[in-house]
Amino acid sequence: MNEIAVKCDGLVKTFEDTGALRRLNLLVRKGEIMALIGPSGCGKTTLLRLITGVIPPDSGSISIGGDLVAGPGLVVPPEMRRVGMVFQNYALFPHLSVAANVAYGLQGPGRDDDVRAMLQLVRLSEHANRMPNELSGGEQQRVALARALGPQPDVLLLDEPFSNLDSEQRVQVRNEVRAILRMSGTTAIFVTHYQEEALFMGDRVAVQSQGKIEQVGTPDDVFGNPATRFVAAFMGETDFLPGEVQPEGVKTEIGMLQTNNEVRIGTHVDVAVRADDVHITPDPSSNAIVLTREFRGMVNVYRVRLPSGRFVHSLQRHTMQIAPATPVRVVMDPGHPLTCFPGTTP
Ligand code: ATP
Repeated sequence: MNEIAVKCDGLVKTFEDTGALRRLNLLVRKGEIMALIGPSGCGKTTLLRLITGVIPPDSGSISIGGDLVAGPGLVVPPEMRRVGMVFQNYALFPHLSVAANVAYGLQGPGRDDDVRAMLQLVRLSEHANRMPNELSGGEQQRVALARALGPQPDVLLLDEPFSNLDSEQRVQVRNEVRAILRMSGTTAIFVTHYQEEALFMGDRVAVQSQGKIEQVGTPDDVFGNPATRFVAAFMGETDFLPGEVQPEGVKTEIGMLQTNNEVRIGTHVDVAVRADDVHITPDPSSNAIVLTREFRGMVNVYRVRLPSGRFVHSLQRHTMQIAPATPVRVVMDPGHPLTCFPGTTP
């Protein structure tokens, strides 16, 4: 499991004056699903294009399955790399049947058996003779997956593969895709904009920002122990509360908070606080005020103004309804130590 399938070392790619990748490093282990997440424009698609080989890096190197495919003086063309690709628009051949789409790119005497095996893997055997326009979006994505997996690539790249699906289909299809990748033991790099999707799909999650990987870790680690302020803010709706480190914890305006960072006493820090860490109860004597309630179905997310004028968010079950302008007592109840970062406010 610790064998390396993809190694990106110091990748740099600049378009005119835009630095899309700035010495990016990433290791993907054989058989794992790496979820790659980051804000729009941080270079996710550029990274995938470099791995497929459609564009070369300015500098740095890429190895796939132990073979160097891009490096100083070397660019192996895409067709010579064992890289599969699944796109958000499926990119199926509309005039070919499901089976013919899957057969595309397969060769040799075992081709029909391979097509049958792939269709079985994605549970579409009974639709082998249908045309793509006779399938649902989720089914089309499974055909695309079968076609990409057929040649047994060393790594499969999935670029926002569920973007064209509605939210209900999305949940079902991502479950199916994850199970298929697992069953086939495929190494995959899965790009998404959605935090929840990255945490669900990835064996590990890589958070990218401004052309670099900020943190790689298990979903629990990246969410629970963000390495940088950017990761804390990007993964989860995070507020930052300033405080001073004291022997008993970090003193903030909503009380003493425990953190998992070793920080010198007297240091000013910002504690990362998530909405589910913050509990509120109506209290007429409090100077904290509910500003808005965002109803999300199962939960309400309240925006609360603290006496200092700073804001925190509080996640409450949907049955707990508090009207805007209600004074509330704010209590931190995280049940785990919080993460803090060097303070940006005195
Ligand atoms: P999104 O999530 O919106 O798809 P992304 O993280 O995939 O974004 P990229 O598409 O890799 O980001 O783009 C990274 C940066 O490089 C952006 O600033 C983009 O405008 C720029 N860029 C990408 N391709 C080109 C190109 N062919 N020519 C010029 N600039 C480009």
